[in-house]
Amino acid sequence: MIDSSLKDIAAALRDRKVSAVELATDSLARIDAGNPKINAFVTLDRDGALAAARAADERLAAGQGGPLTGIPLAHKDVFCTEGVLTTCGSKMLSNFVSPYDAHVVSLLKAAGAVMVGKTNMDEFAMGSSNENSHFGPTRNPWDTTKVPGGSSGGSAAAVAARMVPIATGTDTGGSIRQPAALCGITGIKPTYGTVSRYGMIAYASSLDQGGAFGRSAEDCAALLNAMVGLDDTKDSTSWLGLDLNESGKLVPNTDLGDLSRELAIPLTGLRIGLPKEFFAEGMEGDVRAAVDAAIAEYRKLGATIVEVSLPNARLAIPAYYVIAPAEASSNLSRFDGVRYGHRAAEYGDLNDMYCKSRAQGFGGEVKRRILVGTYVLSHGYYDAYYIKAQKLRRLIANDFAAAFTQCDVIAGPVSPSVAFGIGEKSDDPVQMYLSDIYTIAVNLAGLPALSHPAGFGVGNLPVGLQLIGNYFGEARLLGAAHQFQQATDWHLRAPAGF
Ligand code: GLN
Repeated sequence: MIDSSLKDIAAALRDRKVSAVELATDSLARIDAGNPKINAFVTLDRDGALAAARAADERLAAGQGGPLTGIPLAHKDVFCTEGVLTTCGSKMLSNFVSPYDAHVVSLLKAAGAVMVGKTNMDEFAMGSSNENSHFGPTRNPWDTTKVPGGSSGGSAAAVAARMVPIATGTDTGGSIRQPAALCGITGIKPTYGTVSRYGMIAYASSLDQGGAFGRSAEDCAALLNAMVGLDDTKDSTSWLGLDLNESGKLVPNTDLGDLSRELAIPLTGLRIGLPKEFFAEGMEGDVRAAVDAAIAEYRKLGATIVEVSLPNARLAIPAYYVIAPAEASSNLSRFDGVRYGHRAAEYGDLNDMYCKSRAQGFGGEVKRRILVGTYVLSHGYYDAYYIKAQKLRRLIANDFAAAFTQCDVIAGPVSPSVAFGIGEKSDDPVQMYLSDIYTIAVNLAGLPALSHPAGFGVGNLPVGLQLIGNYFGEARLLGAAHQFQQATDWHLRAPAGF
């Protein structure tokens, strides 16, 4: 049943053909069987899952269930969960039990979804391969010698391995789309501000955005519907755009509406922009072939293709690797061993305690970024690096704005290659950073984007297609992807053995 669409699972729950307790039990059994091979979960909450499932069954019996009531789900371990470990993939937080739930976690609890556990991730969401986790790498279910992508690699692998039908993730520079692509599932990062960051451990606050993984766009829409919402009391960057009230005054929008509303709309007349810079170089041949075929399919379904240009997109990686570490160096200063998290067992004075706790608690990539961030923010370098990167960020956003005068959505690759080998890039941070060449510009601009399965490349490994939308264009993106998925079956393929 966990292999079915959310709609079918929800119908079976409603008709009492299956119970939430049976689904949770099945999900936990699949995790027990598959997790030793892929290490997608770092923490399981068996008792909590069964209790939540029993409560869901009662709601369903009373006819009060919603689309997610009784559905098993996993949270990326970046989201704080009351009473359950929240490690963020770090030794620093390996003993941290949050006293409260992240806003997203509360919303999904209220919707009746059943959290079975927390998924593995790159430490503090820094990485593209999940190899930076303190708990060891997650492995790609399609080939366990390959990475699943990162930083939300655990969530993507768990959905791909049919352990859970849906999972949450976060995307600061590609961390939902890239693992979705490498694991052959669908993942969406919505417009910046639409999903509350309250209780989502901060990496780079102006870029971090929660989002959804599922096997299909339809399932992602159902999950995202329960995640988005204005949270202006707990997250000052929560933002759903502006709306006109009855007296014709512009006021903050409080509702994005049903994100499934465009699923049934045919693609006739949809203008898809292909950024010429994305297709000029960089993509491996197998990825290129799958991307081209997917675009041909969109054309067959009625879309028109136009060429657009994102001339500054090539500067996204350098801009990101100044801005993100700058914000990280500030955000991660809270981990000092005083109030929570790892504290060195032996130290001299207070300063020594800070130094030893941080030296022991953080991994190599996190330290690298704290150093880079501190450097670019320091007196004398701030103007040369940080301010310049902010200017590039504006130019990149302007490029997208210009492109969206010519098209409704932008399509392109997600990752330049299919999943690479574990260890293949871990000694070369610049090579690793280049994995996000097609995803990072979207975060700098704050736009919504998704990745959906688009075929297979070398080694029978999945390839994703990226669709980028204009601000608050989630419903359009999900609708386009759903139409594609009605005509193709890439998203239904499962890795052998799961
Ligand atoms: N791979 C990018 C990084 O290492 C993006 C990570 C993310 O989106 N969280 O920062």
